[in-house]
Amino acid sequence: VLACDSVRKVFHGNVVLDDVSLTVDEGEAVVLIGASGSGKSTLLRCVNLLETVDDGTIHLDGRDITDPRVNADEVRRNIGVVFQSYNLFPHLTVLDNITLALRRVHKRRRRDAEQHARRVLDQVGLADRAGAYPDRLSGGQQQRVAIARALASYPRLLLLDEVTSALDPELVGEVLALVHELKGMGITMVIATHEMGFAREVADRVCFLDAGRILESGPPAELFDAPREERTRRFLARVS
Ligand code: ATP
Ligand code: MG
Repeated sequence: VLACDSVRKVFHGNVVLDDVSLTVDEGEAVVLIGASGSGKSTLLRCVNLLETVDDGTIHLDGRDITDPRVNADEVRRNIGVVFQSYNLFPHLTVLDNITLALRRVHKRRRRDAEQHARRVLDQVGLADRAGAYPDRLSGGQQQRVAIARALASYPRLLLLDEVTSALDPELVGEVLALVHELKGMGITMVIATHEMGFAREVADRVCFLDAGRILESGPPAELFDAPREERTRRFLARVS
């Protein structure tokens, strides 16, 4: 589904991504770990074309999306994104938060969009909150709505950036459980997280980013239990 090839990103002379290559196959969940500032979010932002790469290419379903001629909006229609802050519209109900993009971007008719939105709300366990406004929901529920909204557009790829880091600890579990279910549904995902337990549980492959490079990657059992690199070992010792 996704292939990043020697991606490089420089901010003001600062190399933030350096020769990053990564492929994600259909149904795979790839988890990015690494210290703050190691480039996880920047990589996700490059995939979603919120940043332009300075070198290298990114292919989505075989198409080079870093080609300056591609239509970024069209590419983004195929990518669902959920960030740390849920970014729900406070003045819209849960249902309308989900149908908005379906109607505007995907040109679905109201009835059709609402039916579909109710289905995805049911999937994330919030069917009964369709008419509520976001401020009436817990942080965990708001984040589940944000995930439902991303899912509603049938994305080819879902990017999750620290989806639990703004949540109170007791709300983290419900969101992680949902991501786990998405994985079970076969949704292709790239996930940046500081939750090592979660990374171990959900990842098919874990990539350790260190100063903008993928220093080491592998199945969670390998990377967590038998890291090859000293720097990976040190990072893991610090965070666990
Ligand atoms: P965290 O775990 O804290 O979320 P991260 O791994 O997601 O960190 P990034 O947000 O990708 O790290 O940042 C990588 C580096 O790029 C940092 O040094 C950051 O300061 C820098 N950076 C990110 N965005 C910009 C920008 N728009 N302009 C300049 N520098 C930036
Ligand atoms: Mg980040």
